[in-house]
Amino acid sequence: MTPEQFRQHGHQLIDLIADYRQRVGEHPVMAQVEPGYLKAALPEQAPQQGEPFAAILDDVLQQVMPGLSHWQHPDFYGYFPSNGTLSSVLGDFLSTGLGVLGLSWQSSPALSELEEVTLDWLRQLLGLSPQWSGVIQDTASTSTLVALISARERSSGYALARGGLQSQDKPLIVYVSAQAHSSVDKAALLAGFGRDNIRQIPTDEHFALRPEALQAAIDQDLADGNQPCAVVATLGTTATTALDPLRGIGDIAQARGVWLHVDAAMAGSAMILPECRWMWDGIELADSLVVNAHKWLGVAFDCSLYYVRDPQHLIRVMSTNPSYLQSSVDGEVKNLRDWGIPLGRRFRALKLWFMLRSEGVEALQQRLRRDLDNARWLAEQVGAAPDWELLAPVRLQTLCLRHRPTTLDGDALDAHTRGWADRLNASGKAYVTPATLDGRWMVRVSVGALPTERADVERLWANLQAVVKAPVRG
Ligand SMILES: *Cc1c(COP(=O)(O)O)cnc(C)c1O
Repeated sequence: MTPEQFRQHGHQLIDLIADYRQRVGEHPVMAQVEPGYLKAALPEQAPQQGEPFAAILDDVLQQVMPGLSHWQHPDFYGYFPSNGTLSSVLGDFLSTGLGVLGLSWQSSPALSELEEVTLDWLRQLLGLSPQWSGVIQDTASTSTLVALISARERSSGYALARGGLQSQDKPLIVYVSAQAHSSVDKAALLAGFGRDNIRQIPTDEHFALRPEALQAAIDQDLADGNQPCAVVATLGTTATTALDPLRGIGDIAQARGVWLHVDAAMAGSAMILPECRWMWDGIELADSLVVNAHKWLGVAFDCSLYYVRDPQHLIRVMSTNPSYLQSSVDGEVKNLRDWGIPLGRRFRALKLWFMLRSEGVEALQQRLRRDLDNARWLAEQVGAAPDWELLAPVRLQTLCLRHRPTTLDGDALDAHTRGWADRLNASGKAYVTPATLDGRWMVRVSVGALPTERADVERLWANLQAVVKAPVRG
């Protein structure tokens, strides 16, 4: 494809995206296809000769589109909002179009410096002190892995430069709550701690980690000759948006020299609202934290913000310095390859910068407040309706709810819940996530897709009430 052809097809593609976003609400929100549908429709081999762009676009519309569940749809209440503001889409497009890589500051100076500037803007917006330095990672999973590797190396006095974990005489222990995201477990396993050395700390009646249980577990490990290494606290757990009490946890961690990593992947976005910042009271006691800008905040996936208090420690753990990557300015600049796992770095800061400049902080705050209001409204309806129940406090924009007719209990209630959630999703009228909580099925409704307004939430409530009685017609 020549630049001239790119100009022409690029305009077509932008039109396609704009049309899609304008009319996304006309699609059934969940894909209505069977497994294997696309594999069966596409050729088994790549074409030997190039095809016209029109043929590719046609297949996008005819073949690919029906196989999408629409995350940018006003009736999307699944998982979590992964909002791709169109301003950030353009930044992403530019990043790819420029095709530059950050291997070192010198390999693309603007790439490194724009990342520094935008991450510092975000630091201020989140209400964090200047003690924090940030870097973009692909996902929260990677950020948490980096955090636990950093914790491991601090506790072991940089064992990686010697015999690694295999030379430690005391097992290093990681503490998490039973409500922590699966990526935390995965990070601890990949960082080499081992299943036996991950402690699941019990939670309270609101699913938040209990500091006194953490204290007891740490004391027990010390008595047993183990070495407490890291605790991962969650601000906004996946199931219920529970808020682990950071101040209590942080005090315990500091007193014992234990690394505190805060997984604020989802709820971190809300910290741009001053009225929500009480939720992470104590955050300054943490060593590292992650906020996914690619969730509710609105930066097109992927863009995970990882902040640390001691960048020198991070660099010491992550740094490699082969001769072909060295330059004469290394002493004056940040080489972001030393701030994470991959060497090559996309120009991800562009999409964050585009969004912040194009939308402005006030509009972002307004959108989040709109979503909080909508969730509160829905919680009021559910709370007031006979036969409906909320299973956890609605801290932000996620509701855990259940329709519970007095005649149903136990397994029959589970079957009812899964039945109506599946019927609703299959109808294409809304997309919700059934999940278990305390061993029983409930339905998570995560409000906050970009186009979701009050009228959409009102329609959802009507659909919920209808679908528990009879199938909603698709
Ligand atoms: C979404 C989420 C994650 C995982 O995020 P990825 O960026 O997909 O790795 C981890 N923790 C919490 C609390 C989340 O909400």
